[in-house]
Amino acid sequence: MAKLRTQVGIVGAGPAGLVLSHLLHLQGIESVVLENRSRQYVQERVRAGVLEQGTVDLLREMGVGERLKKEGLVHHGIELRFRGRGHRIDFRELTGGKGITIYAQAEVVKDLNEARIAAGGQTCFEVEDVRPRDFDTSQPKIQYQKEGSEHELVCDFIAGCDGFHGICRPTIRKGVLTEYEREYPFGWLGILAEAPPSSDELVYCYHDHGFALLSMRTLQIGRLYLQCKPDEDLGQWSDERIWQELQLRLASDGWKLTAGPVVQKGVTGMRSFVVEPMQYGRLFLAGDSAHIVPPTGAKGLNLAVADVQVLARALAHFYKTGSQDLLNQYSHVCLRRVWKVQRFSWWMTSMLHRFPDSSPFDQRRQLAELDYVTSSRSAATTLAENYVGLPMEWS
Ligand SMILES: Cc1cc2nc3c(=O)[nH]c(=O)nc-3n(C[C@H](O)[C@H](O)[C@H](O)COP(=O)(O)OP(=O)(O)OC[C@H]3O[C@@H](n4cnc5c(N)ncnc54)[C@H](O)[C@@H]3O)c2cc1C
Repeated sequence: MAKLRTQVGIVGAGPAGLVLSHLLHLQGIESVVLENRSRQYVQERVRAGVLEQGTVDLLREMGVGERLKKEGLVHHGIELRFRGRGHRIDFRELTGGKGITIYAQAEVVKDLNEARIAAGGQTCFEVEDVRPRDFDTSQPKIQYQKEGSEHELVCDFIAGCDGFHGICRPTIRKGVLTEYEREYPFGWLGILAEAPPSSDELVYCYHDHGFALLSMRTLQIGRLYLQCKPDEDLGQWSDERIWQELQLRLASDGWKLTAGPVVQKGVTGMRSFVVEPMQYGRLFLAGDSAHIVPPTGAKGLNLAVADVQVLARALAHFYKTGSQDLLNQYSHVCLRRVWKVQRFSWWMTSMLHRFPDSSPFDQRRQLAELDYVTSSRSAATTLAENYVGLPMEWS
């Protein structure tokens, strides 16, 4: 068996794993990232695209923000559209100048991979059968297979950054973790299209037929979503039908939706999920491995980045002082933010979607809520400060 030693063994080369690995490197702490997919696969996976102000600031501070600065689209507001009319939430005015940046998750992952390689970092792609072991002792290890042979990575700590379907969370023995979960009775049918966005900012739309979102990846590529059934059959949705339905839901006086060739489409289920605590012994869960939010608040990637900032700081404190104090608080600190973000994502989802069992009363209440949010400065500020990202808290 080939043996390797590092300080922090990281499972998963998504945003959480790669940001953690680079943050640790900047503090002089060694890590090895183990990823079961290929580099190309993780760099091409179509996922999130909205970065909070704090995520952007962090990536820049880490030295991986150059392309993001050049190519990212900075937005200072979003539009809420209902009853065929748009209402702008002005982030700049409501949050003291803050905004969000549109930059695809795949591009973030590409930039991080480049940075790790330039720094001589070790990311092992296409490993198989990853097994975290002995994390309830002071010498955890991760066993895995690479090209048919057995390997063992001995480390001081393991970071489970392996997403919702990863192996780290299920490896923790039964009874330790409590799961909190809510499934939603709908999903999102999302497309990526060679169509310039028909609005300068994101448009969140409530409609009798269900929610629609106009988003974008670049000034040439649009990202659009329709509320659909969780198990919607994509075969029933020709490109033409998708554009027609988007046009219908997003319709507003004098506004025109620009269509174009659909280059990717898929259906995503919606769930809220949190596991408590986010640590056990020397295994720390971060990002989607510990929590999932419905995408309406655009928070998944940002929350993953927030977790690993807390973890990197706690690990740096340990290596500097020998004290595990901050590591012991990791779960508590992260969960305070996680639950606030869960609340916001649930609230945005509940306000904007058409629930299958909703009564005429519920629908009028939703419209009243949208009316309130877009006409009360206090309510709009609540949305804006959550959307651009709450400040980091360290205790
Ligand atoms: C289809 C889809 C669309 C999404 N759209 C949006 C959106 O529009 N807006 C938004 O904010 N969020 C969105 N999200 C959520 C966002 O992408 C995630 O929150 C974000 O990727 C979390 O990062 P992570 O690093 O924690 O997990 P991931 O990005 O999931 O990374 C985990 C990594 O671990 C690897 N891995 C898994 N199991 C193992 C194993 N056993 N061994 C080794 N490696 C393993 C995976 O291959 C992956 O590379 C979407 C998610 C999905 C699935």
